[in-house]
Amino acid sequence: MADPSPAVRRLADWDTDRLESLADEYDTPLYVIDLDRVKANYRRFSAAFPDARVMYAAKAHTGRAVLEAVLEAGGTIECAAWGELKRSIDAGAGPNTLQYTAVNPPAHDLDYATDLGAENPGLTVTIGATDTLERLAERGYDGRIAIRINPGIGTGHHEKVATGADAKFGIPYEEVPEVAERVRAEFDLVGLHAHAGSGVLTDGLAEHCRAISRVGEMARRVGDLEFVDVGGGYGVPYREDEPPLDLERTAEMVRDAVGEIDAQLKLEPGRYVVADAGLILSTVNTIKEAPDTTVVGIDASLATLIRPAMFGSYHPMVNVTAPERDHHPVTVGGPVCTSADVFAHDRPVARLERGDTLAIGMAGSYGYELASQFHSQPRPAEVALEAGEDRIVRRRESLEDVTRVEQ
Ligand SMILES: *Cc1c(COP(=O)(O)O)cnc(C)c1O
Repeated sequence: MADPSPAVRRLADWDTDRLESLADEYDTPLYVIDLDRVKANYRRFSAAFPDARVMYAAKAHTGRAVLEAVLEAGGTIECAAWGELKRSIDAGAGPNTLQYTAVNPPAHDLDYATDLGAENPGLTVTIGATDTLERLAERGYDGRIAIRINPGIGTGHHEKVATGADAKFGIPYEEVPEVAERVRAEFDLVGLHAHAGSGVLTDGLAEHCRAISRVGEMARRVGDLEFVDVGGGYGVPYREDEPPLDLERTAEMVRDAVGEIDAQLKLEPGRYVVADAGLILSTVNTIKEAPDTTVVGIDASLATLIRPAMFGSYHPMVNVTAPERDHHPVTVGGPVCTSADVFAHDRPVARLERGDTLAIGMAGSYGYELASQFHSQPRPAEVALEAGEDRIVRRRESLEDVTRVEQ
């Protein structure tokens, strides 16, 4: 029998007949999210860290159905903005279980978080600048605080997501003991936190763990903490030939890096929980033979999935209509008027014809979340799969939705 919870679900593992019928029924472009896979991912990650608390970093995919699935799997939620706090509560999270990471927080975010904290003393606010302490105090907040440390070491699949060494994030390492004293005087210091980057796979793990070891070291210096939170950043293999993260080895390395601490270990994976649980279905509009390549025009664009344009990210693709045809290299692009609106160059895909359905995989994280209405395109619908059933969890936007806020 096949492993019910393999370390990665490749695009090729999805049932193409089922995907084709979803495209027929719900139209394209269409986001698909498999909630059973979300739960399996959360549980697998959590099982690798049996005494740790694994929070899901909501910003990877804040859809209500996903948040509900994480809660059902036993997770709690890490939020980085007021909207994420609200969505988590709407999905059924207890406000006392939430952790709010304030990165340069806008005033309305702090108002919302401190109002929430006034009623729910279990809420934790993670600060990355001493300014934020002053702004919390002005709002009468004297509750739970975690200090985000800038470990001075960053990791990640792209410079735009390597946050650890970036001065924007966290309190400079050497200032942490002094800031801890200050927090203890006015608030309840409960934890230290660091999130060093994103998309870390086996190769980047040693560097990631160096950053984590700095947090463990600081925890021993500061002492008397409830938790040490080593953030997220655990990667998924976007390329078909990349191996998945070895979770057992990762857990061992993380534990060794943190070292002996008299506090609970916390982790905040985002991408790992949702990336391979989601994909996009698109329809081929245009086939154009150009001198150097065949250009396949699909109805998804960088407004649907911005990762290739923003990060140069690779996303796997499968011709869902006819996966058995011969493979030919093609350029796949969307309908937006910029050369950045290209999902792949020279990508071998089973020969596509106009009207075929093309699936773009590994789109569950930072996919719909970063979708926009650029080119006045309504955002796509999202269909959730769970226990053999499917249901629309975000309806397709209409043209009226595109102009709804104009006065
Ligand atoms: C984005 C983020 C995460 C999750 O990162 P992934 O790479 O998706 O695992 C965790 N913690 C914080 C504070 C974040 O900003």
